[in-house]
Amino acid sequence: MTPMSRAGYGKAAQCAVPHSAVARIPQRPLAPGEQFRFHFDMTKCIGCKCCVVACNEQNGNPAHINWRRVGEIEGGWYPNTQRLHLSMACNHCLEPTCLNGCPVDAYSKDAVTGVVIHSADICIGCQYCTWNCSYGVPQYNAERGVVGKCDMCHNRLAEGREPACVGACPEDAIQIEIVNIAEWKRNYAASANAPGLPSADDSLSATRITLPASLPPDTRKVDLNRVRPECPHWPLVFMTVLTQLSVGAFAAIWLLQVFGQQARLNIAALVSLAVGGLALGASTLHLGRPIHAYRALKMWKRSWLSREVLLFALFSKIAFAYAALLWLKFPGSRIAGGLTVLAGVAGVTASACIYLVRPRPAWKSKHTVAEFYLAGAMLGPLLAANIGLGARPWLIGAAVGAAGLQLLNLMVKFLWLVSSDAFELKASARLLSAQLRSLLLVRCALLVAGGIVLPLQAHGTVGLAIALAAAFCGEILGRYLFFVSVVPKNMAASYLSSQRVAA
Ligand code: SF4
Ligand code: SF4
Ligand code: SF4
Repeated sequence: MTPMSRAGYGKAAQCAVPHSAVARIPQRPLAPGEQFRFHFDMTKCIGCKCCVVACNEQNGNPAHINWRRVGEIEGGWYPNTQRLHLSMACNHCLEPTCLNGCPVDAYSKDAVTGVVIHSADICIGCQYCTWNCSYGVPQYNAERGVVGKCDMCHNRLAEGREPACVGACPEDAIQIEIVNIAEWKRNYAASANAPGLPSADDSLSATRITLPASLPPDTRKVDLNRVRPECPHWPLVFMTVLTQLSVGAFAAIWLLQVFGQQARLNIAALVSLAVGGLALGASTLHLGRPIHAYRALKMWKRSWLSREVLLFALFSKIAFAYAALLWLKFPGSRIAGGLTVLAGVAGVTASACIYLVRPRPAWKSKHTVAEFYLAGAMLGPLLAANIGLGARPWLIGAAVGAAGLQLLNLMVKFLWLVSSDAFELKASARLLSAQLRSLLLVRCALLVAGGIVLPLQAHGTVGLAIALAAAFCGEILGRYLFFVSVVPKNMAASYLSSQRVAA
């Protein structure tokens, strides 16, 4: 994006005539080292949501998508209780985490104004940024297939006009003001944090909040206990499990080849390649604009999503070459096999790193990495054993060992969630032990049956096939639970809102 002109803003801002005693937008140009920010005065807000409606009108958003949201917080003891409102949009952070993960560079922080701008033209709708913002600001518009968020009405600001929310507020509770970036970095903690908001530390929120002097010490979100399962992201459930299965199977094939096994390796490689192809096909179904999927390679230096796409693309190409060499019985297949496994393991690692984000605390742990590796380590040998590669005791031993570790990982993760003091982690445990309990129990049963009991008991091909099917379903269910049981950080919602988001 071309940076906006500082001079233009200065002229426009000087021409601006505030329509009340409060200057709602800056009355001087920005100097170097400064940026615009929102100021929200909680003492003035009456929760009327005019700002939300004005924002939706300005940006042509449907009623269920709100780039500005009004949440509620409450505290105190009867009769001295208080309920207050929190009107928030994008915080145009100093270190925007939304921007870091985007694989296509759809976000930019304007060099002059500091406004964090999202380009719908560039966006491919992967939704990764919605996991990367602690405030839940970027919102996915399924009809358009892209994400959107507040851009501080920067075009209006450039013309000396107030952003729509600022102009609509009857109480002058929202203003645009100028902040000195270096000073804010030193002092943000005192004015960027408020009850009902995630810590400003995650991305250095630039929004200044004025709180009432007599805020009850126990003030918290009204929706604190309204915890619901998140979106399952089905294409990602299948994509991640299938890629792990494919990588695990190639690892088993290659190891057997290294140790002298020759029979049916070519068939196994072909089946594993088909599984990998299926996985990559499933991944495009998650994109709002799959036709532009190729753009996802662009930010490989910064985005784990780009790296995942790059590494799995590499994996599929080398795996194809490996399978071809095995079929044609050409030399060099061992080297190709080793490279296939290397690229596959790197791809699974990149996959796991996508989920290690601060706004989703239950994902940001070593358990995620372990879960991804162990799924491949269990399913891969099971698939190889089903194809009849030989060395069956070794393959079964590997699958049973990985299944045992997966079960252990599951239990240790659950104990970690239960014993944590962090609200989001405790809430994840609550979801898993209440609303999602039956699914969790079925997941454990499938893991034990398909990964341990059946492989150890099965003597024929049917038993092994049932074991693979059960273990695969167990991992699919496990990945579904992984997506739905995460409780993201977010700002307070409204008491009456039916969704997690406010307004
Ligand atoms: S509030 Fe979220 S979307 Fe806005 S700049 Fe900060 S990290 Fe990005
Ligand atoms: S491409 Fe993905 S991460 Fe980038 S803005 Fe669009 S949805 Fe967000
Ligand atoms: S328009 Fe003003 S008073 Fe009304 S909810 Fe928004 S910030 Fe609060």
